[in-house]
Amino acid sequence: MHIGVFADLEGSFGIWRMRQCRTGTREWQYGRSCLTADVNSVVCGAFDGGADRVTVKDTHDTGFNCLTDKLDRRVRYVGGHYANPSLFGDIGGIDLVLYVAIHAAAGTPGAFFPHTHYGIFSEVRINGAPAGEMDIYGAYLGEFGIPVGFVSGEDVAVDQALRTLPWAKAVRVSKAKETYTSGEKSLVYLEEGRRELRASAAEAVRGVSRMRPLRLKGPLRFDAVFRTEELAIQFNTWNFERRAEIVSWDAADMLEGFEKLNRLVFIPKKAYPFRRPLAFALRSWFRMKTRWFAPRPDSGGAPFSG
Ligand SMILES: [Zn+2]
Repeated sequence: MHIGVFADLEGSFGIWRMRQCRTGTREWQYGRSCLTADVNSVVCGAFDGGADRVTVKDTHDTGFNCLTDKLDRRVRYVGGHYANPSLFGDIGGIDLVLYVAIHAAAGTPGAFFPHTHYGIFSEVRINGAPAGEMDIYGAYLGEFGIPVGFVSGEDVAVDQALRTLPWAKAVRVSKAKETYTSGEKSLVYLEEGRRELRASAAEAVRGVSRMRPLRLKGPLRFDAVFRTEELAIQFNTWNFERRAEIVSWDAADMLEGFEKLNRLVFIPKKAYPFRRPLAFALRSWFRMKTRWFAPRPDSGGAPFSG
């Protein structure tokens, strides 16, 4: 069984502030070690549950967050974003995805760093209903026949994910500063949390026959509400339908809908013919940069030093 461990960052154990998710900062360098520990726990759980292959797909921001030299040696690591065959690269053959360290959808009140796909939106709707990343990525993976069977993150993010993925196993993660800056007590919390990640991931893999690929029945109507009208104008190089700050498009299914969302956000029309070499160049650049030019970590008062 081939398990995909997909990693975001915001919902990781050990992370409580925004700077820990901002690429290139010393706090982020610390956040990377938190995420790597979470991912390793889920990987162990996947093998406990019966996986014989695990691929780790790094998805936050540039797609290079895990510290690869600290990652479980048994995994194949895929960093960065791809133009084909999917944004996540080659995902064919994956039987189940376990999604680590997720966050709440754009517009969720009181949530930690809530956004959907990219920080430029205040909300993304599909057929009129607010959509989070687990709705979009879950249904995109669903088009390939791949279920999402596990999520970890803060309460509200997990609640949102379970609304669409009711079969998934879940681990809830605190985002309170005191949880991570209280010395010995914090270390115990981290240790217990990661033990739970491992056990819950194993349970998800053992229960793979009960997991369902999420399918959203087309046609799908997407409304991307930008934070400002200026942003909407700037990003809408494809001349999708626009009313003030809302850009909309129709799609037969999630493959088409997600492809259009990615074009809107990442691929200006002029760059489209060069999207493959561009994606390759960006991956190479960020792989090098995040490996060799990373700052020293700043744990911000947490006893776990990374
Ligand atoms: Zn993220």
